[in-house]
Amino acid sequence: MSPKTVTTETLKQITHLAAALKAPRVTEAAARLAEHARDAGWTHEDYLAAVLEREVAARNASGAQLRIRAAGMPAVKTIEDFNFDHQPAARTPLQALASGAYLTEHRNVVLLGPPGTGKTHLAAALGIAACRQGHRVLFATATDWIARLSEAHERGRLAGELTRLRRYGLIIVDEVGYLPFAQDAANLFFQLVSSRYEHASLILTSNLAFSSWAGVFGDQVVAAAMIDRIVHHADVIALKGASYRLRDRGVDTLPSIKAEQESLD
Ligand code: ADP
Ligand code: MG
Repeated sequence: MSPKTVTTETLKQITHLAAALKAPRVTEAAARLAEHARDAGWTHEDYLAAVLEREVAARNASGAQLRIRAAGMPAVKTIEDFNFDHQPAARTPLQALASGAYLTEHRNVVLLGPPGTGKTHLAAALGIAACRQGHRVLFATATDWIARLSEAHERGRLAGELTRLRRYGLIIVDEVGYLPFAQDAANLFFQLVSSRYEHASLILTSNLAFSSWAGVFGDQVVAAAMIDRIVHHADVIALKGASYRLRDRGVDTLPSIKAEQESLD
């Protein structure tokens, strides 16, 4: 048998074995890397490791894609897409958070700031980074979380739902404070925060400072207890300045704003 036929037969066998292992990319990597391995004088072990590495990398990438899709993120925004020149103080903390250490420590992240300063963008970006690091993530607005918890509560399944949610390494609650909570809703939200405390991470975004949260939760005591649990192990990042959405719109020259400013002068 010539070496060429041996190779062809072997490749066929690899195709068959890779299919049996449900590792289809091994076939392609084995063929593609074989010649390179011979030319570069790789050991058998180097070659095997390189082939397996391709399969593992591809599996991780498709796992991350599945987790990103399942998380319900509003848009695929990443840390790399974020222009930190507009939020210089956020650069260092965000880069540290992107490594994901806070998730294994069950710490929280709170992003505060006026509309358009990038809170949702950064929350989603941290969510995507977490998915890529192998964590399960769920993203929803505060209003949607309340709807979900209320439904579970009405069916007598709140405890089960909270336990199930703890299997997610990260839960993102966007837009806390856009709408005030009714008393029942505030209690449900408190239970979500309590059930994750020191077990799994939360990211919250809000356009309100903590001092205004009592108004959102309708109760000073509930708000204080909640903030205490959220902030005990948390990075609180305050975003500042004008809305990024309006940065190139020449908003300061729009007639209505100009008139307003002139009337203030
Ligand atoms: P917020 O949630 O604080 O209201 P968003 O995160 O929704 O603000 O930001 C509004 C829009 O502007 C989004 O499309 C977001 O991607 C973009 N954006 C905000 N800040 C930045 C930034 N510093 N760099 C790049 N895009 C930004
Ligand atoms: Mg937002």
